[in-house]
Amino acid sequence: MSVLDVTDLVKHFPIHGGLLQRQTGAVRAVDGVSFSIAKGETLGLVGESGCGKSTIGKTVLKLIEPTSGKIVLGGEDITALKPAAMWPHRKRIQTIFQDPYSSMNPRLPAGTIVGEPLENFDIARGKERDERVAKLFERVGLRPDAMRKYAHEFSGGQRQRLGIAKALSVSPDVIVADEPVSALDVSVQAQVLNLLIDLQEELGLAYLFISHDLAVMRHISHRIAVMYLGRIVELTDKRTLFSTPLHPYTEALLAAATAPDPRRARRKKAIVQGDVPSPANPPSGCHFHTRCPYATAECKVVSPPLREVSPGHHVACLLR
Ligand code: SF4
Repeated sequence: MSVLDVTDLVKHFPIHGGLLQRQTGAVRAVDGVSFSIAKGETLGLVGESGCGKSTIGKTVLKLIEPTSGKIVLGGEDITALKPAAMWPHRKRIQTIFQDPYSSMNPRLPAGTIVGEPLENFDIARGKERDERVAKLFERVGLRPDAMRKYAHEFSGGQRQRLGIAKALSVSPDVIVADEPVSALDVSVQAQVLNLLIDLQEELGLAYLFISHDLAVMRHISHRIAVMYLGRIVELTDKRTLFSTPLHPYTEALLAAATAPDPRRARRKKAIVQGDVPSPANPPSGCHFHTRCPYATAECKVVSPPLREVSPGHHVACLLR
C-alpha cells in the first residue's frame, strides 16, 4: 500500500524582469513528475544538481506550494492545504537535512532540540518528553547522557543521528532525506545509511531519498528514479537500473560512476559532459537531446512520455 502518491507534479518559479517587474518567464524546476512510495520502501531520486530533485522534496513536504499536480499522503490529498490545515499532517512526513547543524539552535542542549517536535505537536512534555528523548538517543546509537551536550560538541555523523532522532520523535510514515550523508566521510556514511535501513525495517518507514551519489543510492534504495531537467527519465527497481539501464542519460551516469574499464568510462562520460541546459529555457522535445549521442531529428520536437517498457520499468526515450 502506498503512503505517498505524487501525480503530475509541476513547480515553476516565475522570473520577473523589466521596469514593471512583469513575469518574463519561468524556471521549470519540476515538470510533470509522478511516483508512489509504499510503506517500508525507499525511492531514490538521483540526478545532477539543478535537475529538480530537491524541489520535489520541498514540495511534497509543503515547504513550497506546487504550481499544479497532486500530493496524497496516507490517502489524504494535501496538495491545497494551507499551513494551519497542513499542521496535523506534518507529523506524518518529516525530513532529514544534509546539514542538520544549520537547523539546530547552538544555545539549546541536544535533548531539547530532539524533543522540540514532541512539545510542538503536544505529544509529550516534561519528564515524559525526556524519557522519550532518552530512548530516541539510544535508538539512533547515541548515549542518553549526551542529551545535555550542545550541537557543536557532536561529530558530523552524530549530528546526523540527532537529526534522525528528531525526525523519528513524532513517529512519521514518510521521511524525506535530502543528501543526508553527502557531507560525511564514506565510512560514516555507511553507518548512517545502515541505521536508516535498520529503522525502516523496524518501523516500516518510507523514505524519499534524494542524492546525486549512485553508490549511496545503490546502498539504500529499493527503486530509483533518474531525473533530468525537471522530469523523471527512468524509474525502476535498483537491480534492473544497475544491470539494464535503458535511458541514455542513466547509461552515461552509471558508466561515469561505476565502469571498471576506464576507456569505457571515458567514452560514456563524454555523453554527460557539458553543462545541464537551464531549466528556465530547456531544450525542445526530449530535454536530453542536446547531450544525447543517439539523438535524431524527431528527438528535437517530440517529448517522450515516461512509458512502462517492462513490468515496473519506466523509460522516457523515443528509442525504447
Ligand atoms: Fe536521446 Fe532521443 Fe532518447 Fe532523448 S528521446 S534520450 S534524445 S534518443
